[in-house]
Amino acid sequence: MKYKKIITIILLVLINLLICFLLLPKVKIDKTIINYNSSITYKVKASNILGDITRYIKVSDNINNKVLGNYQVEVKVRYLFYRYNKYFDIKVVDDTKPSISLVGNNPTYVCPGKEYKEEGFIASDDYDGDITDKVNVIKNNNSIIYKVEDSSSNKEEIIRNIIFEDKEAPIITLNGGNYIVIYKNDKYVEKGYIASDKCDGDIISKVEITGNVDSSKVGEYSLEYKVIDNSGNETTVKRIVVVKERPKGVIYLTFDDGPSYLTNKILDILDEEKVKATFFVIKGDNYVKRAYDSGHTIALHTSSHNYSYVYASETNYFKDLTKVSDSVYNTISVRCKIIRFPGGSSNTISRRYNKGIMSRLTKEVSNQGYIYFDWNVDSNDAGGDGGNSSKIYNNVIKGLSYNKTNIVLMHDSASHVATVNALKSIIKYGKNNGYTFKAITSDTQVVRHKVNN
Ligand code: ZN
Repeated sequence: MKYKKIITIILLVLINLLICFLLLPKVKIDKTIINYNSSITYKVKASNILGDITRYIKVSDNINNKVLGNYQVEVKVRYLFYRYNKYFDIKVVDDTKPSISLVGNNPTYVCPGKEYKEEGFIASDDYDGDITDKVNVIKNNNSIIYKVEDSSSNKEEIIRNIIFEDKEAPIITLNGGNYIVIYKNDKYVEKGYIASDKCDGDIISKVEITGNVDSSKVGEYSLEYKVIDNSGNETTVKRIVVVKERPKGVIYLTFDDGPSYLTNKILDILDEEKVKATFFVIKGDNYVKRAYDSGHTIALHTSSHNYSYVYASETNYFKDLTKVSDSVYNTISVRCKIIRFPGGSSNTISRRYNKGIMSRLTKEVSNQGYIYFDWNVDSNDAGGDGGNSSKIYNNVIKGLSYNKTNIVLMHDSASHVATVNALKSIIKYGKNNGYTFKAITSDTQVVRHKVNN
């Protein structure tokens, strides 16, 4: 009887133990490692013979995913008569490889016989940051190996392949550009070029030019410049040369206030250049005779050139005009009909001496058979630029145009040395730019200012 009781108690205890064992919650975690900086996503599950009892547990942790290290997950189990805490270890680790990026191309082409010059590299790690200084560079014949290891022993390796080959075509640069305009019958002069190659350096001597320019025919011509480097890379560039019809324009050089000792020098230059001009003179003399005999036009400008006298009255003006006309007639036996008013027909100084006299004179001179000319290109040699040859030159060439009768005002009274010095360049410019030079005649289209008095 006593034994039975003992056995029963033992059985009850065993059954209880079995129940306890079967109902015991089993707690599991799905990971023990979390990557640095990644989201904390572990899952804890509890279950027993009856199934999932996760809802009866409470999970908390002290994980900081920004700092590598060991952390704990605490699971509080409160289920039926079970009261206990369970702990799991979780590690935050850096298992991401660092990265290496190369400056320059990969593969890199290096000129044959040359050494590769390191172009640079950058190594960075998500945890360590910049670890460029930890990169180990190993040079081989045709490659460079870059190795790096972060503080968590993650390794990365990258290879730069070196190919010893000239892959780059040479460069040709044309002096004067790819488009050149010349005028008919001008000789085309090659303006030159530069040819260089990354590996061969200066290879100007290897350039071959094909094509030609026939400047006797208006048209577009193509010149081809070809160069091949030592590795067979070829470059061709084209230059278009356009041969244009030379523009036409006429320049009438006029010299006022002479003659003077400078007139001879002016006539020398005009003779040398075979250019005819027009002289608005204040008297006749040997210089005037020489000018006339050389085929230049002699025109009248008044004798005194004294504004207060000639513009005091019509009578004074014509007296003065007749005086110069007679003087010239005595020299060359010609009555000149082309005239220019002192100060031009637009002068305002005459207002001081006689209001409206220019309006009357401009009509009256025509009635008497004179043709007066003003100017439309002012050298300003009687203005502020009288002492400066280059300014005189610039004033004239700036004023020239193909679309008008270019009447150029200059002076050959004694003070105009700078004008004489500019003359040759002005003529050269005109010739080089398609102008012809003529002396004014009675057939020349008049150029006249607006009358202001
Ligand atoms: Zn004058």
